[in-house]
This record gives sequence, structure tokens and C-alpha cells, in this order.
Amino acid sequence: MTYRDNPEIEKKYKSKRWKKLRKQKILLNPLCERCYKKGIIEAAYFVHHKEWINNENYKDDNVFFNIDNTESLCKTCHNKEHFSSKEEYYFDENGDLIKNE
Ligand SMILES: [Zn+2]
Ligand SMILES: [Zn+2]
Repeated sequence: MTYRDNPEIEKKYKSKRWKKLRKQKILLNPLCERCYKKGIIEAAYFVHHKEWINNENYKDDNVFFNIDNTESLCKTCHNKEHFSSKEEYYFDENGDLIKNE
């Protein structure tokens, strides 16, 4: 599932509401939640949507702006999550375009 062709989703990631939620989440979980479970201390870099955002569910604020649907992840864990799919590009949770290398 990709949303690189949907500027509406990018807009949501650039919204103040998302930025605020992102900050809240990082304050709540400053460490990567997956590494932490394995006993590794790694700073969180991404706030990931557990239910991936796609061209349908992005409109639902209960999905997009739901802190319970977010997970603090380090770059490595976030890449593992997303790049197990075949998409070469996607927007990360900072609204930046990421290339699968
Ligand atoms: Zn991690
Ligand atoms: Zn993600």
C-alpha cells in the first residue's frame, strides 16, 4: 500500500495536529518500543501508525490522530516494518519522501 501519490495524506503529516501528536508520543515513549522490548536502548525517531495509513483510512481522524494507533520506532525498526513491502518510495511520518535503498 502506498500513498505517495496522495497529496492529502502528505498534508495531514504536515499538519499542526499531527506534529503535536507526534511530539506528545515522543515525550511519552522517547525510546524505540520494539528495541526496548528486546532490552536495547535506542532513541525513537519515527512515530509510526500501527494500522498503516492508506488511501482509505487517512480520512478517519480516529485512525490518523489516535495516539493508541502510534508506535515510537527507531530508524532501523521503522525501515524493517515498511521495507518488507515492495514499495520503493513512501512518505515517512515526518512527511519526508524516503527511498528504499
Ligand atoms: Zn528499534
Ligand atoms: Zn511507519
